[in-house]
Amino acid sequence: MSATRTASVAVVGAGIVGLSCAHALMQRGYDCTVVDARGPGEATSFGNAGSISVGNVLPQSTPGILRKGLRMLADPLSPLKLDWPRWPHYARWLVDFVRNGRAEAVAPIIDALHALNAAARDAWIDLAADIGADDLLAHTGYLHVYSEDASFAAGAWERALMQERRVRFDVLDGAELRSLEPGIGAGFRHAVFQRDALAMRDPGRFCTRLADALVARGMRSVVANVSAIEPTAGGYVLRGDTGDLRADKVVIAGGVWSNRLLAPFGRRVPVVPARGYHLMYPPQEAPVVGRPTLWAERYMVVSPMRAGIRMTSIKELTALDTAPRFGLIHRLDGEARKLFPALAAAPASEWAGLRPCTPDSLPVIDRVGDAEVWLATGHGHLGLTQAPITGRLVAESMSGVPTSLPLAPYRIDRFR
Ligand SMILES: Cc1cc2nc3c(=O)[nH]c(=O)nc-3n(C[C@H](O)[C@H](O)[C@H](O)COP(=O)(O)OP(=O)(O)OC[C@H]3O[C@@H](n4cnc5c(N)ncnc54)[C@H](O)[C@@H]3O)c2cc1C
Repeated sequence: MSATRTASVAVVGAGIVGLSCAHALMQRGYDCTVVDARGPGEATSFGNAGSISVGNVLPQSTPGILRKGLRMLADPLSPLKLDWPRWPHYARWLVDFVRNGRAEAVAPIIDALHALNAAARDAWIDLAADIGADDLLAHTGYLHVYSEDASFAAGAWERALMQERRVRFDVLDGAELRSLEPGIGAGFRHAVFQRDALAMRDPGRFCTRLADALVARGMRSVVANVSAIEPTAGGYVLRGDTGDLRADKVVIAGGVWSNRLLAPFGRRVPVVPARGYHLMYPPQEAPVVGRPTLWAERYMVVSPMRAGIRMTSIKELTALDTAPRFGLIHRLDGEARKLFPALAAAPASEWAGLRPCTPDSLPVIDRVGDAEVWLATGHGHLGLTQAPITGRLVAESMSGVPTSLPLAPYRIDRFR
């Protein structure tokens, strides 16, 4: 930011959430500047599994989570990892997380999660069409496969929740599964197929395509680290490491880093980083996998991407300043080949990113008190899915029109 500029709205964060906010705000006539320390789609939004899980009804914490979590921690191949030396950063969050899984707490969370995810499909289709990026959005559905009869049986609760909410899905036996995904490994006998789900073929590239499309419409894209947002006459000044930026209004969409900017407004949200990883396998001539496929017991997703095949897994609770432990994902390389045996022999690259997770698995989409500042963070495991509908809600809230969904479940003050 070499000189002081003016803008109606400064959006901090050019991940999929911030860019979606800018898109929706520009559609409503706002003049936007997006500021990011690293550039569009370079952080968590770069390397996700690409599943736009519009039928997802289950929060991360559900009844029985404590017992399930303890069992997972004892299993070296399970996705749940705790960065033990950093426990003070997430201990309180973990307590709240477990509390939110109690039967009496979880019902409204399921409804609020479903409301966002159900609205996500149209928002995604509209966004991709509007910027001419339909080529990256595939209508493949989302497949959950099970290797154990007991866990498929335990999934009856989730299926009942989907049924009650009219989420369309098919239960497949082994033969039906193999006809849908011929490359699936031998050990999988049950599957649930959500055919309305969408798949993103290159999440990082989608962010840069979206940023480019918005720049062509007049958005300013600035690479700078914002150290503070200070109120000033008639607006705000964003202190950046390359200069200041003035704006009438601000959206904080800084993923796991959002709290740093919230402090001067007297707010803090319980968003902790849950690190996830991916391995990319090179493109192969024979088709290996047709759609994002979740191995339910392993919480591992294998997805076809434009540049190859991506395997994602691991939820590692940690702090902001820690280094990735890539051994955690490489350990699962052999498991990925159990899911799709034709997967190439060796991964071509590795990646890690920090999911911004709240203890109730719901994002924060809200105005910050009576400041002209909005917050959009905490999307956790579903930020790709929920970004365009989040952008729409932020733009509606800022414009003072009725929001497409009630914002109450996503308010900042739900946290005590
Ligand atoms: C392994 C893995 C798999 C996943 N799979 C899926 C999936 O299949 N489907 C799904 O829906 N979701 C998935 N997710 C979750 C999803 O990727 C995230 O929820 C989403 O990317 C969060 O987007 P964001 O824009 O909030 O954050 P980010 O992408 O992290 O963007 C935040 C941006 O803010 C910038 N920033 C922060 N503070 C400042 C500051 N002070 N100054 C300047 N810039 C700042 C950062 O540089 C960053 O670029 C997955 C995540 C992981 C890790």
